[in-house]
Amino acid sequence: MGLSGLDIFKKLPKTNCKECNFPTCLAFAMKLAQGQANLDDCPYVSDEVRAELSEASAPPIRGVTVGTGDQAFKVGEELVLFRHEKTFFNPTVFGVLISDDMPQDQVEKLVKQAEECEHERVGVILKVGVLALKCASGDASKFASLVEKVKGLSAKPLILMSEDPAVLKAGAEAAGDVNPLLYAATEANIEAVGELAKEKGLPLAVKDADLGKLAELSEKLTGMGLKDMVLDPAPRSPKDSFTDLVAIRRAALKDKFKPFGFPVITFPCEETDDELYETVLAALYTCKYGGIVILSHAEQWRMYPLLVLALNIYTDPQRPMAVDSKFYEIGAPDENSPVLVTSNFSLTYFIVSGEIEGSKVPAWLGVVDTDGQSVLTAWAAGKFVPEAIAKFINTSGIADKVKHRKLIIPGYVAQISGELDEELPDWEIVIGTREAADLPAFLRQFSTS
Ligand code: SF4
Repeated sequence: MGLSGLDIFKKLPKTNCKECNFPTCLAFAMKLAQGQANLDDCPYVSDEVRAELSEASAPPIRGVTVGTGDQAFKVGEELVLFRHEKTFFNPTVFGVLISDDMPQDQVEKLVKQAEECEHERVGVILKVGVLALKCASGDASKFASLVEKVKGLSAKPLILMSEDPAVLKAGAEAAGDVNPLLYAATEANIEAVGELAKEKGLPLAVKDADLGKLAELSEKLTGMGLKDMVLDPAPRSPKDSFTDLVAIRRAALKDKFKPFGFPVITFPCEETDDELYETVLAALYTCKYGGIVILSHAEQWRMYPLLVLALNIYTDPQRPMAVDSKFYEIGAPDENSPVLVTSNFSLTYFIVSGEIEGSKVPAWLGVVDTDGQSVLTAWAAGKFVPEAIAKFINTSGIADKVKHRKLIIPGYVAQISGELDEELPDWEIVIGTREAADLPAFLRQFSTS
């Protein structure tokens, strides 16, 4: 971190437009200098200044991408120890361990589990992010066969696991150009594995159970020109893993200790044979501070709560989750279908649309831009008010899609119906239910004629 906050401030536009979510350019610059803001949050920095500030603005924990295309994931780039200080950025990625000494049907079963574990929650797709392929046989050709087999069954990113450089090379060649994470460089193999990662341009995990040695290895690999690394403190005992994960994060953020400025991988599957305890450990490492967490299987009872935990922790607490402001077709609505409006808070949208869907009454659901606030909060903040709703209705084109002119508003804002009547003289304002759960019964008896 070469530049002070004032140095950075001199290079910013100084318009105090607040688009970066800081009140002034100076406040943004100060946070940037402390590694607690992201330069990308200011859209007005020129490419020239961006390049100049790149070192000063680089996150203290490097972002590392594994995989390619739609399935690729990034871990790292975290700026804070505690989510409430700002936010966490790249959610923990969960993976499943598959080894080349497993029977074929076990390999297929684990890949299938990982593939089938996919859930949508508040508009976000939650899924198993990576498959960790381990060479337990010590046989390079057997390992390459496993990589080829799994690659044929799944497009998920891969981690190739062996401490034998020849085995890793065979695995990397079998994987082709899918940008797998090589695991792992150790004190014994660091030159050969480091060179392999460099030659193939692949991210590399570095492992040592001693934090001092881990730092030395990380520095050595950086000296060899490697940039994309993942750390494995590898103590394989819950207490020590937890202590190491916290120590690494603190050293990277508080002391700007560059050898630890990388995301971390954890293996709860190697710390216990008890499935429940393994899941609890995975939850612990999700909270502090595992970037990648590898499990022994991906059964739904375990994965769903872990995925939701990661979603919750990595959701920005300062920015309500919002859906796009527009009319959504629920079912296959036509010109006689009911028209409803609500706010664009994700949870509100998904609860209301879910109840409409459950009613089996096709409908048009209009979502007004309320900056992600719920109906009552948005009303109190002046965002879900007659003028805003009328403007949305008048510009949405809904009047061309339906023959009737009945607009259902949430029961919680019944008090605005009179004023909304005046704003939308062509529409009849109908007061809907207060609770979304009552919508199905309401819609089934509602008539637009
Ligand atoms: S977005 Fe850029 S120009 Fe606007 S206040 Fe933030 S730093 Fe200043």
